[in-house]
Amino acid sequence: MGNPVAKGLRVGAADALSLNRWWGPVSSPTVPLIVQKFGGTSVANAERIHRAARRAIRAKLEGKQVVLVVSAMGHTTDELLKLAGEVSADPPKRELDMLLTTGEQVSIALMAMAIHAAGHEAISLTGAQLGLLTDSVHTRARIQRISRERIDRELAAGRIVIVAGFQGIDAGGEITTLGRGASDTTAAALASVLGAEICEIYTDVDGVYTTDPRLVPQARKIDRISYDTMLEMAAAGAAVMHSRAIEFGKKYRVPIHVRSSLTDAPGTLIMTETKGMEDAAVQGVTLKQDLASITLAGVPNRPGMAARIFSAIAAKNVLVDDIVQNVYDDGRQANLTFSVSAADLAEAKRICADLVREMNLSGMSVDDGVAKVSAIGVGMRTASGVASTMFSALAEGGVNIHNISTSEIVLSCLVRREDGPRALQLVHDAFGLHVAP
Ligand code: ADP
Ligand code: ASP
Ligand code: MG
Repeated sequence: MGNPVAKGLRVGAADALSLNRWWGPVSSPTVPLIVQKFGGTSVANAERIHRAARRAIRAKLEGKQVVLVVSAMGHTTDELLKLAGEVSADPPKRELDMLLTTGEQVSIALMAMAIHAAGHEAISLTGAQLGLLTDSVHTRARIQRISRERIDRELAAGRIVIVAGFQGIDAGGEITTLGRGASDTTAAALASVLGAEICEIYTDVDGVYTTDPRLVPQARKIDRISYDTMLEMAAAGAAVMHSRAIEFGKKYRVPIHVRSSLTDAPGTLIMTETKGMEDAAVQGVTLKQDLASITLAGVPNRPGMAARIFSAIAAKNVLVDDIVQNVYDDGRQANLTFSVSAADLAEAKRICADLVREMNLSGMSVDDGVAKVSAIGVGMRTASGVASTMFSALAEGGVNIHNISTSEIVLSCLVRREDGPRALQLVHDAFGLHVAP
């Protein structure tokens, strides 16, 4: 592994699950079980809900037990967030969760109705009804346990079970959400605990591409990708999958099939690494657009300072991406620069302002216009020349690199936000990703 600092600490993101923390044993069901997740666009209107319902019914008629995980319809979650913003500049996170979970409650009920209308048995369940227990960190809670009891009972009664994505309940009975895009994680977690043969993610693209096809039209669909590459791509900004879903898939060896809800064409299989996956050094490139970087100046260069700063940030559940330290003043002081998502910037600024005061630092500066372009692939472990290819491509395109970080299978550059899409295209071209390896 590379330098743990450069790799990017996910401060505060303690990893959740171990087998013995489930309320039920993880076992293979006697009847094959499948989890199908439908994203917002795939349930955006009545016609699409019927289409998704038909797919679930087909799997049932093929002899499978079927669990559906459904997102809020279309852009509902964005619209609810906008509404919250119109009512309050800083809405309490508990109330945001209360609001956002209504989106999924609408779609699970409609999905159950559509299945009933087609003459089959189905039941919708919220996270609380299911017994999906999370910690209490509103808007980005982590799953702790999932009760099998209710779901097993409903499946045994021959029903298709429809679960609301991205929501749960904490030990105190409060409603929580798991973070934007986390219906994928609900699906993969359920597939893990139920011993599903596969977790299918139905979305508006027909698989995982070498990069976001909306940003780079030459992007190419990948047939098979390892959990590790996909995990890093998701963490580095590939919005097609929520990264924690991949952690579940990897840990419990559930293959994840990302595919289009509009066709029957096979999509991308996210699975255990096979030999051929190392053939290309780089398999995908990503862009994380909404980043901000914060610099704390005049940090005394002695043991314990970084620990104090990042503990304060972790205590507020702010995730830190890359960290760079520059020492000056004959090694007596340092500037500490780190990036956070733009959504966390306000909170991070509050914490840092307190630190500047308490630790008597010389000051803080903020740059809220940065983006990160990353190249990812398990082949990087053995390939050479990846860094020079990437840096040369950016240089030739006139894109200035503000910071570089590396790990075993990821190489990332911070750039100006306005350069981001072009940087992505340059790096995609430089690695020839439009051509099949
Ligand atoms: P859903 O609502 O189904 O969860 P998302 O919007 O979360 O769908 O994810 C699908 C979108 O992810 C695509 O429309 C695409 O623009 C974007 N995307 C980003 N990176 C990739 C990638 N590497 N491959 C495919 N899609 C990607
Ligand atoms: N509806 C939620 C969101 O838009 C969860 C999801 O779609 O995965 O973030
Ligand atoms: Mg999604």
